[in-house]
Amino acid sequence: MGDIMSTADGPGILNLVSVGPGMADFILPRAVQALRASEVIVGYELYLQWIRPWIEGKEIHSPPLTRERERARLAIEAARLGRRVALVSSGDIGIYAMASLAFEEMREDDTFEVAVIPGVTAANACASLLGAPLSHDFAALSLSDLMCPWEWIEQRARHIGAADLACVLYNVQSQARADGVYRVLAILQEHKSPDTLCGVVRNAYRPGGSASVHRLAELPALTFDMLTTIVIGNRFTRRRRRWIYTPRGYHAWSEAPALALPALPARAVWVFAGTGDGNELARRLAAEGHPVVVSTATGYGGEVARLSCQGVAVWAGRQGMEPRRQALERGAARLILDATHPHAAQISAQLIELARQLGIPYLRLERPSLLDARNAIVCDDAADAARRAIELGRRIFLATGSKDLATFVRAPGAERCEWFVRLTPDPERLSRAIALGIARERILAMQGPFTAEFNRALWRAQRIDCVVTKDSGDTGGYGEKQSAAGELGIALLVIRRPHVDYPRQVASVEEAVQAAADLLGARMPPAAGAMP
Ligand code: SAH
Repeated sequence: MGDIMSTADGPGILNLVSVGPGMADFILPRAVQALRASEVIVGYELYLQWIRPWIEGKEIHSPPLTRERERARLAIEAARLGRRVALVSSGDIGIYAMASLAFEEMREDDTFEVAVIPGVTAANACASLLGAPLSHDFAALSLSDLMCPWEWIEQRARHIGAADLACVLYNVQSQARADGVYRVLAILQEHKSPDTLCGVVRNAYRPGGSASVHRLAELPALTFDMLTTIVIGNRFTRRRRRWIYTPRGYHAWSEAPALALPALPARAVWVFAGTGDGNELARRLAAEGHPVVVSTATGYGGEVARLSCQGVAVWAGRQGMEPRRQALERGAARLILDATHPHAAQISAQLIELARQLGIPYLRLERPSLLDARNAIVCDDAADAARRAIELGRRIFLATGSKDLATFVRAPGAERCEWFVRLTPDPERLSRAIALGIARERILAMQGPFTAEFNRALWRAQRIDCVVTKDSGDTGGYGEKQSAAGELGIALLVIRRPHVDYPRQVASVEEAVQAAADLLGARMPPAAGAMP
């Protein structure tokens, strides 16, 4: 590839120019040279302001941020006409940016020259403000689903987590994609330690920039935007003074950090619960003499299980896949009973996979859906419910739990509505709701179940005109919401259950006890109460 300057009077040239994270002194001399040598400059307005001194007086095109392909075509057309063109991107033009679009738009028989000029990308710009968190292997993951399906992003996050790779999250959170980041963080937390050191960097090397260090478990309480990059370390990442770094060499992968597994009964039936019927099932199985372990996602769920199930061992908290695998394997678990919430598709998928890998029988207990399209509006997912709620209501009550809050309050048009939320009284959920800007007088933190009467009084007092909930079934208090909304004439939006292919499924505790007996190989005596 020839020198850029020498092509000035020859055929066209397309310079794909990276201009770094922000400040002018992060632009390489070679990029400056290419800008100087170009007559036509194509790029997004914001980036052009940083390179003003080198492009003044040139022919400048800046179609809006969303019209990227148009920008690439424009640049190529000009190069085809024999002009010297610079197509400009922030950071590195080859990383989540314009270079690949330019190659896509190029034809095999094009004759203009191409020069790709690299730059400092957000990953290393942001890492440098935190210390040296990317000193060893790392992955980059863009959370934007404009270019690839969301499921792939989750799938990749799973692999990154399973490998405990350090990683950099680009395009973290936007108005339209408010809860994706929390899903990805939850996936990473399934595998990586909650103590993993991370950094959140906003506007690196730009005016008003900031950088802060956190533990992975703290990130879900924060809100982000599209000017933010998250850097997540691995199990070896450490602190030194105000920085974090990942050692350049590490050897004892399997020992560090030692997985502190609790002492749990061997050859047990494992009930994954956190719901009323899960606990009932655990109680029944324990009463029949089986060693039982109840695993709950939250500490609170654990407390409830301890109080309501005599004689079972409880393992509370988001354990993550690896500790769970080791615990099931070491304890030679005999059966996995999945009684988690019908909307907790991710944990179910993980349990199905663990059961398959470890050769442990799996059984799903799923409370029947009470969804009746005659007295509720059925929505496909949280984003769909958000859109319809904003169409239908002004004072909207979210009984959807804390995970999807951002999807509602950051949806287009959300600012026209007043949002009321009901959450379990858990500090992390509360701080997230507050961070999302939900007014404190509209947050109700209380553990259910709630009667229809309670719902009615609350919604009447709050002058609610739209309620959003999930298809949680009987023990999830769905009926009480439906009847209260019906009596008050409030629109009721219900998010349908995510689709999961459960290999084996029953619909009641009774059936689960029987199926468990079959799977354990010996028929159990009937429950005490049922004896003649
Ligand atoms: N080509 C760019 C990336 C474009 S994708 C590069 O190589 O850096 C846009 C995303 O990059 C943003 O959503 C943000 O996550 C990240 N980003 C870009 N510049 C940044 C900066 N100065 N500070 C923090 N994050 C930045």
